[in-house]
Amino acid sequence: MSHQTIQLDWDSIETVLLDMDGTLLDLHFDFHFWTEHLPKKYSQIHNADQAGATRYIAKRLEQKQGQLEWYSTDYWSDQFQLNIIDAQAELKHLIGEREQVLDFLIQVGNLGKKRVLITNSDRPSIQLKFAHCDIESLLDQVISSHDYQAAKEQQQFWHRLEKSIDFDPKTTLFIDDSEAVLDSAHQFGIKQLLSIKEPISSQLRQVDSKYPMIEDFLTLFGKTPNG
Ligand SMILES: [Mg+2]
Repeated sequence: MSHQTIQLDWDSIETVLLDMDGTLLDLHFDFHFWTEHLPKKYSQIHNADQAGATRYIAKRLEQKQGQLEWYSTDYWSDQFQLNIIDAQAELKHLIGEREQVLDFLIQVGNLGKKRVLITNSDRPSIQLKFAHCDIESLLDQVISSHDYQAAKEQQQFWHRLEKSIDFDPKTTLFIDDSEAVLDSAHQFGIKQLLSIKEPISSQLRQVDSKYPMIEDFLTLFGKTPNG
């Protein structure tokens, strides 16, 4: 497999906006939680059969995809009548950075660029993730879309972000594994957009992206994977 070389002009970048799940952190945790762990827990607590619970939860999630509720642990705790954060904490051993991410964040900081996490995760989820990985100290600012009551898929999010943090879309790099979110950022006018080749370490990405996809973070500094 040949490596796609992504050429970044770091001199033209002042701010680096970063997604959390599937970008800095391995999406394996979230994928496993929502498709396996939660259906299992739900079927135990509500005395339902597991295959039915799996289908029911998948259907309910699908109905809210791209909306702020989809990312709200409070909402799903209420809907499924169990504490989502407590259930997620049972899988804390699966929380972890993607390869090279810590080195990447250190180097971006060394270049003097502002590192801002922008995530659709709510504050309790962010807290859980931060408690079990090492990215927090390498970020200059942390924004949850729940702070603005608008998901990144919505233009409202970007307008609120522009008002609350000091950034210029023309000198901003944004990395996210969601095509819908990247499209939203593109519509708003973020100049440089990158996607992620394999957000879940345990499986290959099934869809392509119209944005360049990162395979190895450190290649963004012009280094070859083996060089
Ligand atoms: Mg993501």
